[in-house]
Amino acid sequence: MLLGAGAGALTVLLASCTPESTDPKPTRSPEPTVTPTPVGEVPAAAAFLRTEWATDPFALGSRSVTPVGATPVDRETLGTALVSRVFFAGEATDPDRPGTVSGGILSGQRAADEVIDVAEAGERVAVIGAGIAGAIAAGRLGDAELDVSVIEARDRAGGRLVTHMDDDWPVPPQAGAWILGSDDTELASRMGVLGVGTVGLGDATARGADGEIDVPTGDILQQAVADTETLPDDVSLRAALDEAGVQGSPELEEFLAALSAFTGVDPETASSWFPPRMPESPLDAVVSDVAPLVETPLGDLDVTYASPVTGVVYDDRGVSLRLATGEALTFDRVIVTVPLGVLQSDAIEFDPPLPFEKRSAIAALEMGAAESVWLRFDEPFWTTEAGVWHVVGPVGPEPTPSPTPTPTPSPTPGAEGDVDTTIRTWINLLPATGEPILVGLVGGPAARAIAELGDDDLLTLASESLSPFTGA
Ligand SMILES: Cc1cc2nc3c(=O)[nH]c(=O)nc-3n(C[C@H](O)[C@H](O)[C@H](O)COP(=O)(O)OP(=O)(O)OC[C@H]3O[C@@H](n4cnc5c(N)ncnc54)[C@H](O)[C@@H]3O)c2cc1C
Repeated sequence: MLLGAGAGALTVLLASCTPESTDPKPTRSPEPTVTPTPVGEVPAAAAFLRTEWATDPFALGSRSVTPVGATPVDRETLGTALVSRVFFAGEATDPDRPGTVSGGILSGQRAADEVIDVAEAGERVAVIGAGIAGAIAAGRLGDAELDVSVIEARDRAGGRLVTHMDDDWPVPPQAGAWILGSDDTELASRMGVLGVGTVGLGDATARGADGEIDVPTGDILQQAVADTETLPDDVSLRAALDEAGVQGSPELEEFLAALSAFTGVDPETASSWFPPRMPESPLDAVVSDVAPLVETPLGDLDVTYASPVTGVVYDDRGVSLRLATGEALTFDRVIVTVPLGVLQSDAIEFDPPLPFEKRSAIAALEMGAAESVWLRFDEPFWTTEAGVWHVVGPVGPEPTPSPTPTPTPSPTPGAEGDVDTTIRTWINLLPATGEPILVGLVGGPAARAIAELGDDDLLTLASESLSPFTGA
């Protein structure tokens, strides 16, 4: 059953964000075609912004991922209601689109419908969290004439959907979700209706220290993952490659880095039976404020900001919430939409404690790491018109011994004990927006490592990572 689920989903889950390959039998170590690139300098950025989701107390990570041993059933268990009083939503509870905005929307709709099925007219229902899942759930409950209160820890709505509105940035940086694959049709049309602007990112290109090479594809990984169908147990993506006898070529390591950047997974721990889903090419990017996605469903509902929930006391007659502000509020029912990272941290005490199955589902799933670095330049220093860039192989100066984590790239990416911190995936917003803005995307172990770097070291790392793209 599990094997079938994993393997059947393969072609979709590992669909590359790079041009599609028509070759069903990939070769294992393709020889890159090299076109030399003139080398120049990466100038200092005129504006810089970085995300820090790993330490954000109301996220504690970027997006939920499925490690070895966990299955979509864990997500269903996480989403199961307790005594028809405490309901659960949020991207981590969605078995089909976990870790995405679409998963958040689907989970909010599901949880709201579960409440509507059992609630009587006029009941008081609390929604904990005003991210996309909470906003969608609250809007639906409001439409069903229930008395809805949303309680949010931050001083804003949106959660992991957030735009940095600032005059310094002609295209506003997105700290959370902002890339849409061609399979995100529902979300794209929702954005269209709400006036959230998107642009197409166009082609992808790949470069190493010696110049342009073919864009790495996921074919080798996809084949290795398919082969795990015959194994008695789930193994990690890295172990699947080892099983297949595939050595970590620079192209493969770059593909894994892009997979981590776009999904938050760590190849060393990610399940090969339930592999992550890459956004499908061609990619679109959001270039305006994402706020309407949550503000519209919230409408004029009652939202209390800056009020972290610290306790949920429940029985089969109702629910009482304790807030960090010291207040206690009672409701007929509640929908909990906080991220998996928050549930794993025990920041919210449940009384009675969550049942064993739910606690084991929370423990089985993993909060992935993904961070981004936004750089605005006065002038472009690059000439390529490609919207998605991949950095392959070692770049920058030869690594020198330094304390870990190091801002210099590892000479043997993927080797045990090493963390390759090179920022290998970049979005070039110049062709689509006319603004010389580059966005570096990092995921998995690299994201955890760069989260430890100070701003100066991160900027040095970004410049080194971009060196293959300098040119006349
Ligand atoms: C860097 C990054 C890039 C991403 N890129 C993409 C992408 O390109 N495409 C995509 O589809 N998805 C992407 N995602 C994932 C996407 O952002 C999330 O899956 C989605 O926004 C999750 O919505 P949610 O409502 O489940 O959770 P959240 O948005 O996290 O909402 C939960 C809410 O609960 C609140 N909360 C937490 N603790 C408490 C508490 N104790 N009391 C009260 N409130 C609390 C939080 O403040 C938050 O507002 C990305 C995420 C990150 C971090």
